[in-house]
Amino acid sequence: MTQIVTRFAPSPTGLLHAGNYRTAVFSYLFARQRGGKFILRIEDTDKERSKKEYEDNILESLKWLGLDYDEFHRQSERAPAHKKYLKQLIDGGFAYVSKEEAAGEGDDKARRKEVIRFKNPNIKVKFHDLIRGEIEVDTTDLKDFVIAKDLDTPLFHLAVVADDFDMGVTHVVRGEDHISNTPRQILIQRAIGAPEPVYAHIPLILAPDRTKLSKRKGALALTEYRDRGYLPQAVLNYLALLGWNPGTEQEILSLDDLLKQFDISKVQKGGAIFNEEKLRWINKEYLKLLSAERAGEEVLARLPENLREEAKKNPELFKKITAIILERVNTLGEITDIANGGEVGYFFEDPTYVKEALFWKDDKDAGHTRTHLDKVAELLQKISPADFTADTVKAALWDYATEVGRGNVLWPLRYALSGRDKSPDPFMLAGILGKETTLRRIERAQQILSA
Ligand code: GLU
Repeated sequence: MTQIVTRFAPSPTGLLHAGNYRTAVFSYLFARQRGGKFILRIEDTDKERSKKEYEDNILESLKWLGLDYDEFHRQSERAPAHKKYLKQLIDGGFAYVSKEEAAGEGDDKARRKEVIRFKNPNIKVKFHDLIRGEIEVDTTDLKDFVIAKDLDTPLFHLAVVADDFDMGVTHVVRGEDHISNTPRQILIQRAIGAPEPVYAHIPLILAPDRTKLSKRKGALALTEYRDRGYLPQAVLNYLALLGWNPGTEQEILSLDDLLKQFDISKVQKGGAIFNEEKLRWINKEYLKLLSAERAGEEVLARLPENLREEAKKNPELFKKITAIILERVNTLGEITDIANGGEVGYFFEDPTYVKEALFWKDDKDAGHTRTHLDKVAELLQKISPADFTADTVKAALWDYATEVGRGNVLWPLRYALSGRDKSPDPFMLAGILGKETTLRRIERAQQILSA
C-alpha cells in the first residue's frame, strides 16, 4: 500500500482565518490517522500579494495548533520544476504560446503580450470526491485556459499540479471553492503523466447569517484567538467540529480522540456555521481541565500589574482564588476584563462602599443590619483560625440566618466582605479570606453602620 500524503497549501496573501485552518486540520487528521505524511506548501507565486508576515503568521498558527508537518515548501522556489513541465507540455503539443492583445491597449504592437495556454481537449472529466461523490464536468466551456504568463511565471493550475505530482500528494483536501478548478487540473495531470490524486472538497464555513465568512464577518486571524486567551486544544477541537461530528454526543475531543474518530467520508456537504458561542463553551471546558499549577500561571499572566503584584505577595490566597476567577470566564483574556471591573481586587484589599449598600432590600434600618453583623461576628469569633473554612462558617451562621431571614444576615455579610453586588457566597468568601480579615471587614461595616 502506498503511503498517504496530504498537503495544506495556503496562499500568504492575507491573515488566514478559522476556515482556512479547518482545511489544515482535516488534511492533517486524514494523513496522520493513516500513518501518512502531511506537507505544508506556501503558495506564493503571486509575488505582489504574497507577504512574508503572512507566511510567518501561518507557521505560527500551525505551531500553536500543534499541527506538525513533515515537509515545508515554497512554491516560488520551485520555478525550475514548473518550467520543466511547461516545456514538456509545449513540446508535447499540450500547450502553446499564445500572442494576444493586452486588454484595452488597442493595436499597439509593442503592447502585445504572450501567455501560455493549455490546449483544451474539450472532453468530459469525471472524478470521485470523498465528500461529494461522483462529479462530472464538461471542460468545453473552459476554452484553452492560461497556465503561465511565460516559462518563468507559472500560474495557479500548473503550479499546483506540478507540486502535487513532485511531492507525491495522494489526497487533495481543500475548500469546495476549488471544485471548479479540479477539471482543469486533471487535464494538466493527464498531459504531464501525473497520477490523479483523490479529492475531498470540504464545505465552506459560513458566518452566522449564512453568508460567506469574510474579514468583515467574524473572520479573525487564528492568532487573534490565541491573543484573546483561547487554548489551542479548544480551537483545534472546535475547528474539527466545523462540518464533521463523531456521530455521538461527545463534543470535547482531544487530538488523540480526533485521530481515532475523524472520518472524512462523514464530513457534511452543506456549509458549516462558525459559532463563536460554541467555541467559547468548548474553551471553558478546556479551562476546567488545566492543572492547578498551569491555571495559576495563566491567571497570573492576565492580571493587571497591581493585582499581579498582590498575588505574588499572597501566594496562598492567590492559590485559593484561581479557580474562582477561572470559573467566571470563558477565555483567559476575560480575566483582565473582570479584574479591571473589580471582581478580583477585593480579595487582596479591604473594599470601600457606602452604608446603604449593606441594607438588604427594603430594610433601611442601620440598627437592624448592625445587630445582625454583631451576632455574625460573635458566632464567628468562636471558630479557631485553623478551622475557619466555608463549611465551618456556614455551620456557625446557618441557624441564626434561617431564624431571622437569610437575606438580612447574608447580604450585609457578603457586602462587608466583598463590597460588590455580585460575588461568590459569603461562606466561601470568609473561608478564603480567613478569620482575621473576615472579622476586620465585619468590624469596618459595623463602624460604617454606626457612623
Ligand atoms: N493556494 C490555494 C488557496 O489558498 C489552495 C490550493 C489547493 O489547495 O489546491 O486557496
